[in-house]
This record gives sequence, structure tokens and C-alpha cells, in this order.
Amino acid sequence: MHKKRLVILLLFFLLLNIFSWNFLFSLEKELEVVFFDVGQGDAIFIKTPQGHNILIDGGPGNIVLEKIGREMPFLDESIDLVVLTHPHYDHVSGLIDILKNYKIEDVLCTGVLSESNIGKKWNRIIEERGYRVALAGQRILANDIHIDILHPTRKLRGEKIGDLNEASIIIRLSHKGKNFLFMGDAYKKQERELLSLERECKKRHDDCSFFEISADVLKVGHHGSRTSTTSDFLSVVSPEFAVIQAGKDNRYGHPHDETIETLEREMVKIMRTDKDGDIRFVY
Ligand SMILES: [Zn+2]
Repeated sequence: MHKKRLVILLLFFLLLNIFSWNFLFSLEKELEVVFFDVGQGDAIFIKTPQGHNILIDGGPGNIVLEKIGREMPFLDESIDLVVLTHPHYDHVSGLIDILKNYKIEDVLCTGVLSESNIGKKWNRIIEERGYRVALAGQRILANDIHIDILHPTRKLRGEKIGDLNEASIIIRLSHKGKNFLFMGDAYKKQERELLSLERECKKRHDDCSFFEISADVLKVGHHGSRTSTTSDFLSVVSPEFAVIQAGKDNRYGHPHDETIETLEREMVKIMRTDKDGDIRFVY
């Protein structure tokens, strides 16, 4: 990355954009993260110890409605935060039904333009209801949980991007020393950007917690495709578990053998929705 651009980026990171949820009391429960088996696509449901609900992506079709119905308490129809990593069908489809059927407090997405009908539909809905434009450096605080946005490093609202996977929102969630890194469909190029930002920050600053990418659980980028997940990246993230969200016998051949081999070489425990169904972590 060009030095000047990096410095501008770092300066930007100093103007951190923090928003938080307030709580009257804490029930001291556990954090639950469920990677739904929605076929070929991503949908991740997070229940915070304080009872807040977060949904990252909605998968293809609307199977997410059935999945989330089982996770939410009866009569609870509100979701605190819905995140769309990028407006491809296998991530956005279910969210359109979620927005129709649930009361959504906040939506976080890039607002990037999409050529597909479903992407255009999503954009129409969110431009009307309002949303937060995702940008690296944002931190969402919720008592002892924080969610950092690591990518994209510039605002993409209203922009056309050749390959929407490159516009994926990347998120790191931290709770009591346990960390999850959600890569969306980001590629090796975005992984290199994250590595470079963390490295450059550490040269100049003591506190680089906003750039940290180490994680106990890595949601592998792009369904385990060979386009993502380098050894260099894995050795810094150093996850215990890698979760791959892919559909059984999907037409892309995800996850690719190369990715599985890289994960095995790095001694990461692999979990796959196509083989294991819904995957749940409780911390
Ligand atoms: Zn995808």
C-alpha cells in the first residue's frame, strides 16, 4: 500500500467513530454466535449477554426466517442490528424478509450500488428507512462487547464496484478476551490490507486495538473459495476454529481443496455448515 495513502488512513482512524447501546442492567449471560446452515450463503446470528440480537447477512431465499424464529424468544420481534456485508443474493435475500417481518433498530451496510434486482431492491428499502454507512474505524460498544469495523476503509455509498466481494464489510467482535473475525466474501487482497494496517499501526502507536485481527473463531472469507485465506493471514489471525458457510454440493465447489489444505497446515479446526449444519459457539 502506498505510504501516503496509509498515513491518511491512519489519520482517519484517529477520528474514531464510536456509537454505543446503553443498558439499564446486565443479566450476565453468555455470548452466543450461531452460523446458520442456509445452504450456499452466509447468515450469522449473535445474541449478546445483555439480550441484544445481531444478524450478519441473511443468506439465499428466506430460510433465515425459520432459523431465526427458533433462536428468538416467542413474541420478541426486534433485532438491534442487521449487517449486510455486501449485496450479493447469497447474503442479502433473506434480509429483505427480515426487514419486513422484524422491527430493526439499526442497519449497517456500505450502501454500495448493485446491478442485480435483489441488490437494487435492498438499496431502495434502506435508502428509504435509513442506515449507518459502514467504515473502518467504527466501533459499536455494548457493555463488555465491542464490534469493530475493519473494512471497507472508505465510504462506498452510491458507488459502483466491479466485484462486490471486494466491498465486503469485515467485522471483529470481542467479548471477554474471545474474538470472532467475520470476513464476508473478502479476498486475499483485503486480507493483505488488514495485515498491512495492523503492522503499520504497531510501528507508530501503542494502542492498535482497532486494527487487531487475531481471533479465536474465523468466519472464512468467500465460503472457503481459493480466492481467500492465505497462510500469512492465518498465521496472524491464529484462529482455533475456522467456520466455512457453504451449501451441500454447491455449484462453485466451495470450499476449495486449497483452502482446506491451508487451514489444515495451520492446524485450525474446520467447521462447515454443509457438513455440520448450524454451528454454535457459546462463550
Ligand atoms: Zn457469498
